[in-house]
Amino acid sequence: MTAKILDGKLVARQIREELRDDVADFIQNNGEVPTLATVLVGEDPASEVYVRNKVRGCEQVGMQSRGFRLPADASQDDLLSLIAKLNRSKDEPIHGILVQLPLPKHIDAARVLQAVSPMKDVDGFHPDNVGRMVQGRPRYLPCTPFGIQQLLVRSGIEIPGRHVVVVGRSDTVGKPMALLLMQRGAEGDATVTVCHSKTPDLAAFTRQAEILVVAIGQPRFVTPDMVRPGAVVVDVGIHRTESGLVGDVDSAVNEVAGHITPVPGGVGPMTVTMLLVNTLAAARQQQ
Ligand code: NDP
Repeated sequence: MTAKILDGKLVARQIREELRDDVADFIQNNGEVPTLATVLVGEDPASEVYVRNKVRGCEQVGMQSRGFRLPADASQDDLLSLIAKLNRSKDEPIHGILVQLPLPKHIDAARVLQAVSPMKDVDGFHPDNVGRMVQGRPRYLPCTPFGIQQLLVRSGIEIPGRHVVVVGRSDTVGKPMALLLMQRGAEGDATVTVCHSKTPDLAAFTRQAEILVVAIGQPRFVTPDMVRPGAVVVDVGIHRTESGLVGDVDSAVNEVAGHITPVPGGVGPMTVTMLLVNTLAAARQQQ
């Protein structure tokens, strides 16, 4: 068996086309262009690429972006005052604020993310927005899990009643992924198991998954013997290696899985697209 591809690039393109019309309507009705502020601290090459993709995404759907950069040795207070300024922004509208992670070690990322106004928190990381997601009344959903959920739904993958195993429990991917898929409703209603680095006999859990989401940050970690034949496999990992980009899932899993997300071209384009969706939602909320 060779797995069918869950084509994140294609689905992302479809959502961006819909978004372009919605953005044009918003501009016509409100006389304002939805605007995303990107904040980059330091010169991490991967972060530069991610920010560039987000800026390009804004252009594609007719939104604006404003780039703000601080040097790697900027203090936490410098960053907090920039965020305070963007929260207030009155003269030029800023509807969404994206602080690119990771931040340099001397900066407390949780403190910074909490400083972003919940109304402009298009990454969905502010405790207010996390709490709303937990309670099933979301404002903005975290982009990577939101993107994965939409990729599954739009690819015709049935979620309700399925056993989902999420490997990884980060605040940005694994934990919100589990929460989203266990929510009541047609895009959730899954039975969810969460595994992490302290889970003994991980493969005993992953082999039970009808939908397996892997977000651990370990290149090619999940091998065919860990996957139930026919399972839907979502590979969140991205690693630059000498042989190109690889995920957390070994390519041999293609022979066992029923569906799989490619790396690149799976989860990545969906993540950026959901940031655009959230930015338009933020612009609407602020009218
Ligand atoms: P983190 O490092 O924040 O979290 C990793 C999680 O995986 C932790 O919960 C950790 O467990 C768990 N883990 C690590 N090793 C193992 C193991 N051997 N067995 C079981 N669990 C393990 O990573 P992120 O969630 O931020 O990212 C995961 C991957 O996804 C990375 O490769 C990242 O680059 C990629 N990514 C891709 C995105 C995209 O758009 N495509 C977006 C965001 C991330 P514990 O909690 O016990 O330490």
